[in-house]
Amino acid sequence: MQPVKPAAARVVNCPTCGKPVEWVADNRYRPFCSARCKGVDLGAWATEQYRVEASGEPKPEDPSE
Ligand SMILES: [Zn+2]
Repeated sequence: MQPVKPAAARVVNCPTCGKPVEWVADNRYRPFCSARCKGVDLGAWATEQYRVEASGEPKPEDPSE
């Protein structure tokens, strides 16, 4: 286990490897930690667990839906 940074950035766990990932705009691979993890699990998470957000921005709630 790694200590969670007391930063402003939201931290999520990479769905593929479980590594803590800072959910920031600079992280193009979010919620994954790397391109490799994103590629490995892309199909599964896009169709099963999560919806692909068209805007690419982290929006936990979408009032327009
Ligand atoms: Zn990962």
